[in-house]
Amino acid sequence: MLLLFYNKVAKMKIFENPKELMDYTKNLKGSIGFVPTMGALHAGHLSLIKNSIRDNDLTIVSIFINPTQFLPGEDLDKYPRKLEADKKICSLAGVDIVFIPTREKIYSNTEPKVLAPNQKAYILEGLKRPTHFDGVLTVVLKLLNIINPTRAYFGKKDAQQLYLIQNMCRSLFLHVEIVPCEIVREDDGLALSSRNIYLSKEQRKEALNISKSLKLASKAMMKDEFESKNLKKIMRENMKNLDIDYVEIVDRDFNRVDKVTLKQSIILIGAKVGDTRLIDNLWI
Ligand code: AMP
Repeated sequence: MLLLFYNKVAKMKIFENPKELMDYTKNLKGSIGFVPTMGALHAGHLSLIKNSIRDNDLTIVSIFINPTQFLPGEDLDKYPRKLEADKKICSLAGVDIVFIPTREKIYSNTEPKVLAPNQKAYILEGLKRPTHFDGVLTVVLKLLNIINPTRAYFGKKDAQQLYLIQNMCRSLFLHVEIVPCEIVREDDGLALSSRNIYLSKEQRKEALNISKSLKLASKAMMKDEFESKNLKKIMRENMKNLDIDYVEIVDRDFNRVDKVTLKQSIILIGAKVGDTRLIDNLWI
């Protein structure tokens, strides 16, 4: 009882060194929930954190802007950094440990490469961003090995990422349970993203057509329209003002499908608003 009370008021710990975190967690009892992030935390991240706190004895959040998942010319250098605010959010949410490593502590020049499976990682998000998912899987594998969590929490917003991580954990026989979490949206439907702050007022309005397109597809399905071709046409027409990267419908294994099947399909959109790339999706 006393221990429980102590846990509730215990101060949040911050680790920067992987080795020190590994030494600390080695002796912990109970389940560990892990929420990997790149920081600039918003309500989407917070929902993952809340799920982890609900399910586990201890919650660890990592904040690491992973350089290997950015391609040359992407927004690595200007990616939003809000470390002090992030720490406060984590502390108020009841996070036990925040892990904030430097690049040097995570990467070395001589290390084996993790390669995402081509046929699932070089489509959709990976088509315009080849090697992006190699970087994602590399860092997630490193973080899972450092933290050795019971469960790790990922948003359905990054559906392809979630699929590739689940696939990696299964294929490499990792012990962790991957917990998919629902997409958190603004009241008007825009999916929360750290990159939304790049949008001007006007661009934000334009970006709404992404989530609106998913709603239109939903409505069409309620009227028995399940042909991918027709659904994609409806969505593309609603996003004429955007620089569409892809509008695709896949099954849960990320194979393209000609028809939507209930409880088995995902509609995915990737589009640019100005210089900002946004993604959104709908799990049918
Ligand atoms: P990031 O910091 O962008 O790498 O995201 C960290 C985690 O938060 C990933 O698992 C994302 O899928 C998840 N996430 C980001 N935005 C949202 C959102 N709007 N709703 C739910 N999860 C999200």
